[in-house]
Amino acid sequence: MIISRSWTHLVMGLAMALPMLPPVATAADTPTPEEYVAHVGGDAKVVPHSEFKVDGAKMSCGTRPTVEDSQLDDYGAAYPGFLIMNPRLLEKVSTPVKMWIYAHECGHQFRGPDEETADCFAVQRGRRQGWLKPEGLEEVCKFISPAKGDSMHFSGSHRCEYMRKCYADPTVR
Ligand SMILES: [Zn+2]
Repeated sequence: MIISRSWTHLVMGLAMALPMLPPVATAADTPTPEEYVAHVGGDAKVVPHSEFKVDGAKMSCGTRPTVEDSQLDDYGAAYPGFLIMNPRLLEKVSTPVKMWIYAHECGHQFRGPDEETADCFAVQRGRRQGWLKPEGLEEVCKFISPAKGDSMHFSGSHRCEYMRKCYADPTVR
């Protein structure tokens, strides 16, 4: 989840979207991507891991599939075992920002709910794979920093500071 900062919010959000699920999903009651798509309807569809692309470039997160869902209330989200990307919102941002969003959600798959950890995972992966240059990182920073100063802005700036450190850190976290 990119804008909302808590995994709990994400799981609660999905629990509201999928009312038959308890608020905290466990492996046994986690929906499959197909169940998610069947529930949300609309244009949602499952894209297998071997076919998922961002602006023509293949992106992968292990072998996890991606659900494309234009009705999602955020740019991207993670659910145990699959990623959710919102093509309607993603078309408004640049390629490195899109790729960072995908990698951030992938970070949740491998590193858990913490937002800073997912941010760090994403920028280090982008650096290693070559799709995130320092200019791209600045675009990401602009993307997560709301225009007006408030608690969100502080949070956005703080996340950026941490991502710049991670980006410069040769140790993989
Ligand atoms: Zn997140």
